[in-house]
Amino acid sequence: MNTILVKAEEKDAILKAGEILRRGGLTAFPTETVYGLGANALDEKAAAKIYAAKGRPSDNPLIVHIARFEDLEAIAAEIPESARLLAKRFWPGPLTMIFRKTEKVPYGTTGGLDTVAVRMPSHPVALALIEAGGGYIAAPSANTSGKPSPTTAAHVAADMDGRIDLILDGGPSGIGLESTIVDVSGPVPVILRPGYINQAMLEEVVGEVQIDQALIRDDSTVRPKAPGMKYKHYAPKADLKIVEGPQEAVVREINRLIGEKTLQGEKVGVIATEETKELYQEGLVKSIGRRMDEESIGRHLYSVLREFDESEVSQIYSEAFETPKMGQAIMNRLVKAAGHQIIKV
Ligand code: AMP
Ligand code: MG
Repeated sequence: MNTILVKAEEKDAILKAGEILRRGGLTAFPTETVYGLGANALDEKAAAKIYAAKGRPSDNPLIVHIARFEDLEAIAAEIPESARLLAKRFWPGPLTMIFRKTEKVPYGTTGGLDTVAVRMPSHPVALALIEAGGGYIAAPSANTSGKPSPTTAAHVAADMDGRIDLILDGGPSGIGLESTIVDVSGPVPVILRPGYINQAMLEEVVGEVQIDQALIRDDSTVRPKAPGMKYKHYAPKADLKIVEGPQEAVVREINRLIGEKTLQGEKVGVIATEETKELYQEGLVKSIGRRMDEESIGRHLYSVLREFDESEVSQIYSEAFETPKMGQAIMNRLVKAAGHQIIKV
């Protein structure tokens, strides 16, 4: 398959991409979180193409993207008051909510579940494309299953060239981490995946919000409610380990580990920050942003992981990031990328 790459601002680019979606094809598009791989969510055959292009396990459900709140009614069997309040505050934006689904949504889109995940993104290109494509666009992140999510059109092309019909280039994603997922189908809203919108922000709007136990315990004995969370995620090619503890001790330990690995002939990478990047004597050191600027850390995480894929490093050490606002989201992704390998110092 020949994959067309077009800039979103080009004349008729969004209309053309929408036409592809209406015909049952696949279009990657920018959102404010990460790039999505879109297909018509109400067409089971189209949704199946997403799983094939990504190599995604078929029980890992897709998020349905809409552009108007009214469109929720056709796919959600019940819209609880909490969801209305959250939508009013956070839509369009980086929040996904889980509802009981109507018959209109095929099981091929929900991974066989009776619930459907829905989000209204705020990126203007995404909103225009959803409208042009028929109003209901299933879209997981536009990466090969298991790899870091794409935050630029070039990342998408690296994984999807030849596998999808079109890539709409709308520049880099502003947030860089996937949406917060909240299950509103039960009595108390439950966070299934942390994101830019954190627990405190949600609680300000609807009162008590819980966090899925599988996220807190982070062990394999608790079954995650967001089925996708059980799979390998965000992983770079090299082995990644996180070193956690007081900053000075972390830098000392990473330097020691670099020395050890270099002696063994390995090429080592380091994920550092602006404040610490000069403190490493060897290795390929990449800064992820300033410690105080969590938004820049969130925005750069996946691109830094992908940059390491392009270098020859076989081992990466990352500092841990204490980022109170987005920390849960950032560390959740980093810990998964590292396959839960954490060295405490
Ligand atoms: P991504 O592929 O990165 O866009 O991830 C989509 C996420 O949404 C995955 O973690 C899915 O498991 C989760 N998800 C989608 N639909 C549902 C649902 N009905 N119930 C729970 N989680 C869902
Ligand atoms: Mg994904």
